[in-house]
Amino acid sequence: TAPTPPDARLVRTTCPYCAVQCTFDLHIERGLPVKVTPTKDCPVAHGTVCKKGLAALSDVRHPERLTQPLLRKNGELVPVGWAEALAYVRDALTPLLDTRPDAVGVFGSGSLTNEKTYLLGKFARLALKTANIDYNGRYCMASASSALNRSVGYDRGLGFPLADMGSSDLILLVGANIAETLPPIMQYLKAAKDRGGVIYAIDPRATTTAKVAGQHLSPRVGTDGVLALGVLHLMKQWGKIRPTAPAHGMPGVLAQADDYPPARVAHECGIDEADLLTLARRYADAARPLILTGRGAEQHAHGTDTVQAWLNLAFLTGHFGKPGGGYGTLTGQGNGQGGREHGQKNDQLPGARSLKDPRHRAEIAALWGVEDTELPQPGRSAQNLLNACGREIEALIVLGSNPVVSAAGAGQVTENLRALKHLIVIDFLPSETAQLATLVLPGSMWCEEEGTTTNLEGRVQRRRRAITVPGAAREDWRILCDLAAAVGRPQGFTYGTFRELQDEFFLATKGGKADYSGLSAERLDRATAQWPVKSATGPDTPYAYAPTYPTADGLATLHVPSFPLPTPPRQLTLTTGRLGNQYQSGTQTRRNAALKAEATAQIHPDTARDHGLRPGDSVTLRTLHGTATLPVQITPAIRPDTVFLPFHWPQTANLLTDPYTLDPHSHMPAFKGTPVTLMPAHSV
Ligand code: SF4
Repeated sequence: TAPTPPDARLVRTTCPYCAVQCTFDLHIERGLPVKVTPTKDCPVAHGTVCKKGLAALSDVRHPERLTQPLLRKNGELVPVGWAEALAYVRDALTPLLDTRPDAVGVFGSGSLTNEKTYLLGKFARLALKTANIDYNGRYCMASASSALNRSVGYDRGLGFPLADMGSSDLILLVGANIAETLPPIMQYLKAAKDRGGVIYAIDPRATTTAKVAGQHLSPRVGTDGVLALGVLHLMKQWGKIRPTAPAHGMPGVLAQADDYPPARVAHECGIDEADLLTLARRYADAARPLILTGRGAEQHAHGTDTVQAWLNLAFLTGHFGKPGGGYGTLTGQGNGQGGREHGQKNDQLPGARSLKDPRHRAEIAALWGVEDTELPQPGRSAQNLLNACGREIEALIVLGSNPVVSAAGAGQVTENLRALKHLIVIDFLPSETAQLATLVLPGSMWCEEEGTTTNLEGRVQRRRRAITVPGAAREDWRILCDLAAAVGRPQGFTYGTFRELQDEFFLATKGGKADYSGLSAERLDRATAQWPVKSATGPDTPYAYAPTYPTADGLATLHVPSFPLPTPPRQLTLTTGRLGNQYQSGTQTRRNAALKAEATAQIHPDTARDHGLRPGDSVTLRTLHGTATLPVQITPAIRPDTVFLPFHWPQTANLLTDPYTLDPHSHMPAFKGTPVTLMPAHSV
């Protein structure tokens, strides 16, 4: 055996990918990570990382790793030094910031650490003084977040420890394919099943999750909320209404349920009435039923109302916030939870404060040493920001996101980004968005930086630096400080060490709804903690949803949801989603040889026959928003009225989605439910 190098060490950190945030030990030898070992004491996954986590090291020192600033000259991105790059930033942005700061936009990410999330929001509002900052979480769990905030005053995706799932006696997975997207959670599903629990996958596709679950209900795309109304109707009919706590809005919600008898619901959802009755009977009889929504239910223009309908059901039947039962959302992005709490949203300040609330503005302004009148008002949300690029928005700074692939109406968004005067992208790989940039700044990747992330159950964990950035790359937090200095506004961005930034971040959350102020790196070295954590010696909060809520009067408010008219029976509907081997826009995972996957259009054999498609054919899909051609995958595991496309590749799924129809509450675009037509590619 080879001798152990003298610098060999282990660094414990968290996975760069999804919101489970599994921990693992990185084996460092000769300055590089050489192996990943899942950690059995990981409080979430208990040593059961998925393929993506095990393959995470393939990105490190990838041949395409960005190691030098790249500036566009004569149409080409060419390597330059930092001095020239930052001079470009100064010359590009200063005239805009002096006259029209809102013409500069900032686009962040749910993959950023909490500290970077905080710093990006501070950078936008303090250094740039622009109102226009938002992030790609609008494309993820924003609708669930919106429904929770509207109803109970704040949102922690899961208000309970994940392990509680194991004690549920009925779990409804609504549009959540966890076997592929959050695999370690399957252990809790199996635990529930082993104890006699019943698991339903509610999904237009018979996914891997549906096969493991055992029970599969396959409603039409976009009708999950109507299904919830049908179950609520039966709960009322069967005398099962016993609200979790007093709440506003209950009479209206219960009255609406009268309009959704089983026959109507079965018809609109395209399911058998008997299956609806069986599901409802199981829900009525369960002691600890748990409803979990995922992107299948949420990524619609009526996603907030869909979640609201399920939340209303959990609340009115007395299960919301109870151990082993209730409602939760399965957040997707690695720091999708923390990323939506600390100020990169267009309407938010750190600690899940509101930018519209005078008290919240005053608290953060005092911390930052400015007048609250100096803080901008809420600006454009993510898709609106991208839709305005090239017009009202003249310069955009993107950190850790790839909207050329992930935005709705990606074809139009790409044209908008091309029309910008300045597109500055901070990333560590040349994403499709970086390839359009006027300036690319080489940032840090997960194992090259310190910080914290917050997983889907609100559990805060340390991400530890294992290696240093290569070449002339810089840590993202230092780049943001460099940008502030470049535009002549370094005040508030002169941290000597990362620790200074981190301590300021924890302090900034004090008194907010997402309060991390009792945390420190040392405390997190001893144990992870679920927020809120309000003092250094106080406890964390495994159960976030007590019967009193952080609302004006401590009561919840249930809202009456509304849904679009049912689609005509013969209308083909496009839905999009993830594959197990890929992550988000695929910037990392498409480059990873260990994570092979292919973009195909999944259709039912009946659909294939009706359209003259055979295995091996390519199909051209058309919507009002664009056209895409890709190989067809014919499978009985999908409804005949549904077409599924994975969204990890450019020039595919999001060429077809609608960039203009947004959820009125969450501003989530309608990623799912787009009417689509098909034809064999050879006949186009
Ligand atoms: Fe765990 Fe998610 Fe990473 Fe897989 S991708 S190892 S489930 S954190």
